[in-house]
Amino acid sequence: MSTFSFSLDATDGSARTGVIDTPRGQIRTPAFMPVGTAATVKAMMPESVAATGADILLGNTYHLMLRPTAERIAALGGLHKFMNWHKPILTDSGGFQVMSLAGLRKLTEEGVKFASHIDGSRHMLTPERSMEIQKLLGSDIVMCFDECPALPAEEKVVASSMRMSMRWAQRSRDAFGDRPGHALFGIQQGGVTQSLREESAEALKSIGFDGYAVGGLAVGEGQEAMFGVLDYAPDMLPTDKPRYLMGVGKPDDIVGAVARGIDMMDCVLPSRSGRTGQVFTRNGVVNIKNARHADDPRPLDESCTCPACSNYSRAYLHHVFRSQEMISGMLLTWHNLHYYQELMQGMRDAIAGGTFTAWQADFHAQRAKGDIEPL
Ligand SMILES: [Zn+2]
Repeated sequence: MSTFSFSLDATDGSARTGVIDTPRGQIRTPAFMPVGTAATVKAMMPESVAATGADILLGNTYHLMLRPTAERIAALGGLHKFMNWHKPILTDSGGFQVMSLAGLRKLTEEGVKFASHIDGSRHMLTPERSMEIQKLLGSDIVMCFDECPALPAEEKVVASSMRMSMRWAQRSRDAFGDRPGHALFGIQQGGVTQSLREESAEALKSIGFDGYAVGGLAVGEGQEAMFGVLDYAPDMLPTDKPRYLMGVGKPDDIVGAVARGIDMMDCVLPSRSGRTGQVFTRNGVVNIKNARHADDPRPLDESCTCPACSNYSRAYLHHVFRSQEMISGMLLTWHNLHYYQELMQGMRDAIAGGTFTAWQADFHAQRAKGDIEPL
């Protein structure tokens, strides 16, 4: 069995492009990971997700442990087989969603006790239990169990939370053990305080991980503060390992993060927006529910090769959205995921060609133009 490895092919400024090799296939970086919360990317068949160009999906430990349970998925052959996705899967640790979704939480050094948001049943997540669940799921990239305060927060709150997360990172490392072909990523915390980010990075590096996430961002701090942290945080992490920015983001967040040295990202935005009629294009956001599209025979984006743009008019997409037909979410999600993957491919090519600065200028200029004029 081949092992997990990362090779950097080119850099342009702080931006990087390379390949993560796993036994389940290659992940081209910078990579965008669609989110398959409940063992499905909503409204998409797995082969359709692959057709958009995705090399890897994200699965959510918190959701899957509650329903259908990790033990059931393991008994049925693991998450890849269960959901019919045979490329790599990254699972989060459950920590973030316990804090954002569960009821009756009790946080201690041991872990988090909580009540399920589905049926109120009581559970406990610890670093050891999170590692066990992610192993049962068969995840290729496992995330350390951590805790992350919502921002803004007092610095002393961020500091003590970060230090507990670093103790949990050591416990995660110990519980993960030696699993060839599977990777464990550490998660840097420290909010928007540079010295805390440095302390966290040093703690993680001394433990040693296969990759490193910049955590605790996209939690309410805004793009300017996030980019402020990304101006220094990735440089604190090892150059020869993948760097993952969790839960980001909008297209311009993603471009800005890649420009600052991030290799992997995930976000529900393209899939969730597909179901609410919000469409991402080269020329910015289009709201398909607007009446201006009702008689418009043109595609969403004439340069896009996705099924929604190749085969349907804005008028049709407007109609099925307004009629709440299921094909609306299917087509718009496909388009959005296709757009995100094209964005990543564009960045990979530009970084490899040494033209990323010009590529970014063109990206922003196209968006500034706005949507095509109404007919
Ligand atoms: Zn399209």
